[in-house]
Amino acid sequence: MLIVRGAVKDYDWGIVDGLAPWSGATCGPQAELWFGVHPGGPSPLIGDDWELTGENLGDRFDVEAIPLLVKLLAAAKPLSVQVHPRRRVALEQYRAQQSQESGPRIYSDPFEKTEMLVALTEFEAFCGWRAMDQAVSMLSAIDGTEAAVAALRTGKIDVAIRTLLDLGTPDRIAQLTRAARDAGLAPAEVAAYETVAALYPDDAGALVTPLLDYLALAPGEAVYVPAGVPHSYIRGTGLEVMTSSDNVVRLGLTSKPVHVDHAINALVPDLRPQVLRTGHGDLIWPIDSPFVVRVLREGSERILSGSYRIVLLIEGSARVESEEAESSLRRGTAAVLGAGDPDAVIHAQGLVAIIQSTER
Ligand SMILES: [Zn+2]
Repeated sequence: MLIVRGAVKDYDWGIVDGLAPWSGATCGPQAELWFGVHPGGPSPLIGDDWELTGENLGDRFDVEAIPLLVKLLAAAKPLSVQVHPRRRVALEQYRAQQSQESGPRIYSDPFEKTEMLVALTEFEAFCGWRAMDQAVSMLSAIDGTEAAVAALRTGKIDVAIRTLLDLGTPDRIAQLTRAARDAGLAPAEVAAYETVAALYPDDAGALVTPLLDYLALAPGEAVYVPAGVPHSYIRGTGLEVMTSSDNVVRLGLTSKPVHVDHAINALVPDLRPQVLRTGHGDLIWPIDSPFVVRVLREGSERILSGSYRIVLLIEGSARVESEEAESSLRRGTAAVLGAGDPDAVIHAQGLVAIIQSTER
């Protein structure tokens, strides 16, 4: 059993000091804290004296042994409209990219990125496809979108996306809020489009957001986003669990490069996200998921040897005991147990996330 701290990511969409309770640092926007071995942010190890040892988790485990990446995420404004590649696409595209001496480095690793977000506060997202009738009625309220609407009606989502990106001028983006209202969307949803139009007035990708479904999660609720499902997290603080990859292909709402062809190639049009309206303490186990998560408020839980496990203290106190080691976690630290480590028992009081790999 090893104890780690999260590696801080200060992306510009983060909440100012939004992760300070868990990062132990105040330094401006804090977007993500990473718990895992991904080379983009391997987690620093903590010694018995709670000081950093100078090593990170990747020095002790290889990538195959830590199949998951766990993050705390604090979004002050919408993250990019993005899609993650499935396993085959990630491998193919990464190999093709690495075989070229120059050119854009779009893929950071050869792995699938399937993810789940568990809301810790009220959390809003665009995720998956909006019902076609609703997307059509919203787009029809924006000038000059006939070609995109026609493509959508005939099920050509890729054509609709390319057309909307071509049409995404400031005058049309400024019509998003009224279009959402005209389409009869709920006030919270209209407000989300108002935010998009205000923050991204000249980002063509804003015009793609009417294609995406809107989702509001209460604390403890979760959305499982298999690779291939388009999404953009709008606002809130959450726990994010994913396969250990940082492959993100963007369509808009970003200052980073947009790769339309790659994003469309990574999309799986028929795939849907799964919304899990569970509460704290329930096991969150999406169908066909490579991981399961339990967010425990109070009580004890035994986690069995044989799979990768990570226990993250979000608030309160937690004690992790096995026959080889024991530790009382501090807020923002996590206990990491490899598949070969023994069973462990967790005693929680507060809010503790227990994440296990389901892959053998
Ligand atoms: Zn994502």
